[in-house]
Amino acid sequence: MHPVLEILSQGEEIITGQTVDTNSAWLANQSVELGFHVSRHTAVGDNLADLIKVLTDISQRAACCICTGGLGPTCDDLTAEAVALAFGLPLLFDEEAFKHITHFYSLRNRRMPESNRKQAMLPTTSERLDNEWGTAPGFAVQVNQCWFVFLPGVPAEMRNIFLAHVKTKLEHRFPLHVKTLVTLRTFGIGESEIQQRLHAIQLPDDIQLGFRAAANEVQVKLVFPANSLPEYIHAYVALYTQELAEFVFAIDGLGQDTGDLFETINARMTQKNLSIAVIETLSQGLIASFCGRGDWLLDAHYHHSTKNLCTKLNVFFQTDNICLLAQDLALAFKPHTDAEIILIQLVIGTPEQKIDKHQLIDVHTMLLVTGNFYHHHKALAGDFKHKQHHAACLALDWLRRHI
Ligand code: ATP
Repeated sequence: MHPVLEILSQGEEIITGQTVDTNSAWLANQSVELGFHVSRHTAVGDNLADLIKVLTDISQRAACCICTGGLGPTCDDLTAEAVALAFGLPLLFDEEAFKHITHFYSLRNRRMPESNRKQAMLPTTSERLDNEWGTAPGFAVQVNQCWFVFLPGVPAEMRNIFLAHVKTKLEHRFPLHVKTLVTLRTFGIGESEIQQRLHAIQLPDDIQLGFRAAANEVQVKLVFPANSLPEYIHAYVALYTQELAEFVFAIDGLGQDTGDLFETINARMTQKNLSIAVIETLSQGLIASFCGRGDWLLDAHYHHSTKNLCTKLNVFFQTDNICLLAQDLALAFKPHTDAEIILIQLVIGTPEQKIDKHQLIDVHTMLLVTGNFYHHHKALAGDFKHKQHHAACLALDWLRRHI
């Protein structure tokens, strides 16, 4: 069984939507990775009665709660007071915490406002969590069946205190059985098609399967029980990878670090010591800007139409065989570059600027890699910006498949 953990965010700006609650997402991710069962996220505004009620409820149902926000010096920062009132733990002045706060100000050559003294007032029996990154210390306290951890709301402070002081305490206090999460990262295939392809693979009950559509990729997530043997994990990951074949650009969770589609391409180009020349039409420089992360982009050109590109390279503009046209263009460009790979993106028909969102547009990508041509085309829908972005990603994924 995984210990139940809840996450509580405090602050008027969270519940009114002025601040997006990224703290909870980050903490939930960390907690799940540690082996907790995260059962609930709650957000409460700057209201003492509401805070007292929610803290009392959580103390009776969760084994652990991580709370962020409300530790500041102002009158709307109510967390410590709410803990004191909810659990009968009067606030005590903490000499060490106060030293930290005054030191923080003296390091910056600033006078500490009197109101910051409030941040050194911690509930009786609580354990101080030093904050070397800001003024408000965090604190932890056991109440009823729940171990509460209170951290400042500022994301960088919250993360640093969690990683420096809280994580190891959690590992020591709780019997945690860490599950293994393996993520297959795919491009060029939708969730439903993935599901269809994987349908035939029978998964044992102890492996959980999930899908997540993220920016520029669809992820397939496999969660294996704690203490699964590596052979067991590898066998099922291999089955899934085989089924999704060329769509998988990276696998997370098997030890080695991976990255997104662009990072994957960057790593391969660098590792294989390859270089590329890119000629774009529809995506107007987007491919080059993605490639620009590495130093393997030798030439980048943008032409507002395929016709214009043909004129520049002195190639006969023929639209009945676009594949051949793209090959002619790649060959005509070859003497102008030292790059091993040439990528040409073409669109025939409506000038790019006039493409409206209802119009399907066929985008062609031609790669010339060590004497071989690889051609790909796809009809794109959506507004102009979306078509551009999609065309750039398709071209890059096509490159990824041939290096
Ligand atoms: P401080 O000592 O800086 O006042 P605090 O613990 O009182 O810290 P808050 O005043 O509640 O924290 O929040 C400080 C800032 O941190 C907010 O203005 C907001 O930008 C950010 N913040 C607070 N809570 C969250 C959250 N849940 N997710 C993301 N950002 C948050």
